Amino acid sequence: MMPTLTPRLQRFLDRNSHSMIIDGDSIAVSSDQTIAVVNPATEEVIAHVGLASAGDVDRAVSSARLAFDNGPWRTMAPMDRERILLRFADLVEEQADSLAQLITLENGKLVGQARSSDAIGASKTLRYYAGWATKIEGSTLDLSLKQKPGKQNFAFIRREPVGVVAAIVPWNFPVSIAAWKIAPALAAGCTVVLKPSEETPLSALMLGELALEAGMPAGVLNVLTGDGATTGAALVAHPGIDKVTFTGSTATGKQIGKSAMDHLTGISLELGGKSPVVVFDDADFEEAAKGIAAGIFRNQGQVCVAGSRVYIQKKHFDRVLQDVCDLGKKMRISHGFDPDADLGPLVSSQHLERVKSYIGKGVEEGAVLESGGKQVARTGYFLEPTVFSSEDNQKVIIQEEIFGPVLVGVPFDDIEDALQKANDTPFGLSSSVWTQNINTAHQMIDGLKAGWVFVNAPGRSDPNLPLGGYKQSGIGRELGRQGLYQFTTTKSVNIVY
Ligand code: NAD
Repeated sequence: MMPTLTPRLQRFLDRNSHSMIIDGDSIAVSSDQTIAVVNPATEEVIAHVGLASAGDVDRAVSSARLAFDNGPWRTMAPMDRERILLRFADLVEEQADSLAQLITLENGKLVGQARSSDAIGASKTLRYYAGWATKIEGSTLDLSLKQKPGKQNFAFIRREPVGVVAAIVPWNFPVSIAAWKIAPALAAGCTVVLKPSEETPLSALMLGELALEAGMPAGVLNVLTGDGATTGAALVAHPGIDKVTFTGSTATGKQIGKSAMDHLTGISLELGGKSPVVVFDDADFEEAAKGIAAGIFRNQGQVCVAGSRVYIQKKHFDRVLQDVCDLGKKMRISHGFDPDADLGPLVSSQHLERVKSYIGKGVEEGAVLESGGKQVARTGYFLEPTVFSSEDNQKVIIQEEIFGPVLVGVPFDDIEDALQKANDTPFGLSSSVWTQNINTAHQMIDGLKAGWVFVNAPGRSDPNLPLGGYKQSGIGRELGRQGLYQFTTTKSVNIVY
């Protein structure tokens, strides 16, 4: 079952300890507390990392602060920053197999998806933002302020890097989401302390090593290992942080937002979702069913933009939902290195139990279990693709984020009914609409309260396409120009001469 690992990954895993990266060096945590990293397909411990204490956090933030205030990064010619980021992108691409295998070992996802979404995805994001390093602009303005006789003025806005950034990321796309934060922050001239999830710290360490190999100066990108309660909380509360960029659950995002306000630290929050998919009577049903299945079952449903509620116009409800169930039943469930696998394990036993408890709740509250629903009887945290149906939009499994391969189908009457139901949750991250009618598509685009609307496709990220949430799905936008400018601040200047 174990594949042949790349020599680089083998050497990485053979190390006795996996230290943090601070100030360009491998640094062990100061306490003897460790976190076990478990392979979710085998339930075996593959490594231990240290749990960074508040003191370790302070050391990492001080290193990033020094590199920002005194180091060469911010003052470097933008083209030189670009060159290092491009080298970083190249190395991530060259080491895509090592990164992908490591992600599969610690996260469970299919190695092909780890390669394309995480490793290659991260290299694309790095390359995209490398190009932005040379394109950051301010502007000049005309003011109406009266000048003394013989005097004139020249007013302009400078755009500057925001400073030291704390980047806290989840486990579902550990390397690509890290790149969504570190690439724009570094392109803008900021320095970064990255805190990966306790489930997937190893791939973040490998990413940090590649940054150093690319020529990133010491202290510009630091990587801490640790949990949320100790390490993450100390990082957010640290007065030396200028900006917190967080991706994770809505509950954690709220805590982080409150803590950041103690020092009025800037925040951007990319949080949970419960994204609707709306299928109209005129849709291409075959394509829609494939899109719905891909949208909820890819990465075992552990995708923030997963389409986890599907609203199908009444006349074709049974047919479309049946097609999705059939696609789910055909999926081959196996470990992430199996080339025939369509679905791997969930990330951890705790997460599996959480998703199973939602399936139990769905049955208890009277939703109809149309297919799947069971844990697979084998070692590892494997769960069948699961489809429910319900007429009642208020069910817990329709209102709360499950973050697993669990879909709920709900029938609707017309556009008004579809919009009312689709918007009726606290979340607003993504949405998909399936229709051949351009009028219907535009009415839905206009009415949906979501940061993303995809028409005739499941949601997919691109470095140039901003992502972020309405309502409790977050604050701010990641990726694209907006994703870069969240790591900048402006200074308004007026010169009288
Ligand atoms: P999580 O909120 O449990 O943890 C995310 C990160 O926050 C981890 O690194 C964790 O250690 C850290 N953390 C936890 N408590 C903290 C605290 N008090 N202070 C500081 N840091 C803390 O989320 P998760 O289970 O790792 O990820 C799944 C969630 O992420 C889902 O809700 C999913 O929708 C969301 N997500 C959102 C997006 C997006 O772009 N909007 C993308 C991916 C995942």
